[in-house]
Order: sequence, then structure tokens, then C-alpha cells
Amino acid sequence: MPRHAAALSCVIPCYNEAGNLKLLLPLLERLLQASGLRWEVIVVDDGSSDATADVARTWCQLAGFRLVRLSRNFGKEAALSAGLKAAKGDAVVLLDGDLQHSPDLIGQMVAQWRGGAEVVYAVRENRADESALKRWGTSLFYRLVNVSSRTPLPEDAGDFRLMDRKVVDALLALPERNRFMKGLYAWVGFKTVALPYTPAPRAEGESRFGALRLLHLALDGITAFTTWPLRLISVIGLLLAIPALGYGVYLVLDHFISGSDVPGWSTIVVSLMFFMGIQLVSVGIVGEYVGRIFEEVKARPLFLVREEHGSGLSEPGP
Ligand code: UDP
Ligand code: MG
Repeated sequence: MPRHAAALSCVIPCYNEAGNLKLLLPLLERLLQASGLRWEVIVVDDGSSDATADVARTWCQLAGFRLVRLSRNFGKEAALSAGLKAAKGDAVVLLDGDLQHSPDLIGQMVAQWRGGAEVVYAVRENRADESALKRWGTSLFYRLVNVSSRTPLPEDAGDFRLMDRKVVDALLALPERNRFMKGLYAWVGFKTVALPYTPAPRAEGESRFGALRLLHLALDGITAFTTWPLRLISVIGLLLAIPALGYGVYLVLDHFISGSDVPGWSTIVVSLMFFMGIQLVSVGIVGEYVGRIFEEVKARPLFLVREEHGSGLSEPGP
């Protein structure tokens, strides 16, 4: 298909974003209409309890707008997968529904794509809008994942990105259920260009990713893309066992040579507790991996679609 007839899909995962969609969808329509591309906007309603679906359904009366409604809240990663699966364009743009990802950047993304890039991702220029704790946690996370991963995750890059059809198909073909998207983007590779941007403040409402949820996400990422925690356990075990063995030999010899008895058992209690603690943590780490194997083996679908509205790409604007 010649590039001038190219079609662009915009996928917006939404969990209770009714107010924000009312602002975002008109913006997008104007922008896409002016782009000269054929386009579609896919709102994925991730089990919202507000009027998100109603707002999107109204827009679906216009050519180019579509709504994919999931049967419940499956989480952003699953909602993104649902959107990617529904998208028909030659390139797909993912953006948040809260206007933090400025649609104005889409033009630059498309320009890079036309210039041959297969992935164009937006990189936060700063994290000034985030708390010191969150920034610290984020940088710790990247260090933990990137310490061993052969496909390092670019820091400060989120889901705001354009992907060529080739890349989307590659992502959709990945069989795993743990959709840690940041890792999967890096894993599939392709020719990648980064665009700096400064995220706007959330237009309305609160971030859905609190500390606990971010921690879950980080664990998903680490277990999906590294195995060093498992190796670390073996190394710690060895480091503890070898001196323990040496000490044991020393005690036995000491008993026979100088006849001294083992004094005090506070040492025993403390070291027992220490080693039991290490064992429990180790079992926990192994458990994190085993739990995820269980998730994968069950092979449940990533998401269920309740209903879909709207269809087809818009005609190119004037
Ligand atoms: N989102 C979603 N499902 C969820 C949580 C969030 O589809 O379970 C969407 C949300 O509506 C928004 C995007 O994911 O469009 C990013 O969420 P949010 O703004 O809360 O996260 P942050 O900007 O803090 O990363
Ligand atoms: Mg946000």
C-alpha cells in the first residue's frame, strides 16, 4: 500500500476517563482530520464504572471512532493488547486518555515513521512532576531490570509511542500472558527513534497507579525479564554454607584439642533466625516465578470483550 494512503490507528486505554475523553477526542479528531491520513481512534474501555463507554459510544457515530469494551477491569497492559488487536492501521499510536500524552506529538511521530522508523517512542524529559520516592523507585527498578537483561529497557519511555504494523504484529504474536509492555517493546526490537516530551499534568482525576500497583508492575517486569534473583539465591546460599562448614570443622577440632565446650546459645538462636529468614525470602522469590509460571500455564485469555462499536477507517481529510 503506498504511504500516502496510509492508515493510522490511535489506541486509548481508558479506566474511568469520561471527563478526559470529552476533551481528548475532539482534539484528536481535529488533528487526525488535518493529517491527510486515513485514521481510526480506538477507545478501549477497561471496565470503567463511569460514563466512559457512553462518551465513546456517542463518538462512534462518527466515521473513524471505535469502542472496544472489556468485560471488566483487566488493567492497562491488557487494555493495550485489546487495542492493538483491534487496530487495523499501518501504524498504531498508543496514548493515555488523561491528556498527559499530548496528541500534538503524533504529527512528529508520523513524520519519523514516514522517514523509516518502525517504533517512535516518547521519552519524558524530566520527572519533576513526580515525588522523590517515586523517582527513586523508578530508577531502582530500571537498575534491577537492566542489570542482566539483554534487551535493556530505555529509561523514561512509557507507552506513548507509534509502532509500525510489523511491530504490532510481532507484539500480538508473543504468547505470554504477563504483558509487561515496556519489556515487550524492547524485546521485539526494530528500528527505534526516541522523541523527547514533557508530560502534561493529568487533566482530571487521579493516577490509577498507586505505590502498590507500581510495585506489582515492577515485580511483573523483573520476573518476566530477568532470572538473576534466582541465581542470587544460589550465590547467597553458597556464600553462607562455605564459611558455616569451615566454622563447624573448627568447632569440632577445638572440642577435641582444647576440650572447650560451646558457650551460650544466643548465637545459635540468632543465627537460626537469620538463616530461616534468608530461606523464607528465597522461597518467596522462587514463589514469585512459580506463580507466574502458573499464570502462563493456565493460558486464560488476556481480556474478554463485552461489546464493540463503530467500524472502519475514516476517509482522509481534505
Ligand atoms: N488505565 C487503564 N486500566 C487501568 C488503569 C489505567 O486502562 O486499570 C488507563 C488510564 O485510563 C489512562 C492510562 O491507563 O488512560 C494511564 O493511567 P494513569 O494516568 O492512571 O497512569 P499514570 O499516568 O500515572 O502512569
Ligand atoms: Mg496518567
